[in-house]
Amino acid sequence: MSSDRRRTRRGLLLVVSSPSGAGKSSLSRRLIGEHPDLSLSVSATTRAPRPGEQDGREYWFVTPEVFREMVAEEAFLESAEVHEHSYGSPRAPVMRELDAGRDVLFDIDWQGAQSIALAAPQDTVRIFILPPTMRDLAERLHSRAQDSEAVISRRLGRARGEIAHWPEYDYVIVNDDFDLAYTQLAAIYHAERLKRARNLWVEPMVAGLLAEP
Ligand code: 5GP
Repeated sequence: MSSDRRRTRRGLLLVVSSPSGAGKSSLSRRLIGEHPDLSLSVSATTRAPRPGEQDGREYWFVTPEVFREMVAEEAFLESAEVHEHSYGSPRAPVMRELDAGRDVLFDIDWQGAQSIALAAPQDTVRIFILPPTMRDLAERLHSRAQDSEAVISRRLGRARGEIAHWPEYDYVIVNDDFDLAYTQLAAIYHAERLKRARNLWVEPMVAGLLAEP
């Protein structure tokens, strides 16, 4: 896209939610990797890093004190308690991307999806990723081997509660076949970007077209 057109389009807030283990992070990472105008909102969290996670890449890992200060300073667009830890989406980087006409993907739970959609209803697109079966979800959590058995069984217990929020989303994708789920995710993103209301450059362009002899 030319930079003129980018400057005159409204950035999109793509909110992707799912129970842990349904593949949302892998799908989101691939979408971002293939779309330079889309970046990840890196959340802050009070939970400990899992093996392989890097500060500033998957999350900003902060202490409960720092998290509380950030809440008090209104540094978050939204924040929520998930699995006994605090998570929040830092406001400043998101505003920077939107101001530049770029899009932001949020890998956040249903509470965050609700808050973002309330704050920016016109600009938010909500997508829910479902596992094909609960057994599949359990297998994925075990094969990830990043969490203890106790953590895995707690997450599975909560998965049902998270799945119950599916009607609050604009789109639902069943992640049975990763490539198919990715194609569907990318199709949603591409179509949403093309919506007339997001492309402010169309009006002057059409005026120019009609002014042509
Ligand atoms: P995990 O600890 O497995 O990385 O994430 C646990 C849950 O918290 C996931 O459903 C994830 O999407 C959600 N989450 C991560 N960051 C945020 C955030 O900034 N806000 C909200 N509301 N949820 C988040």
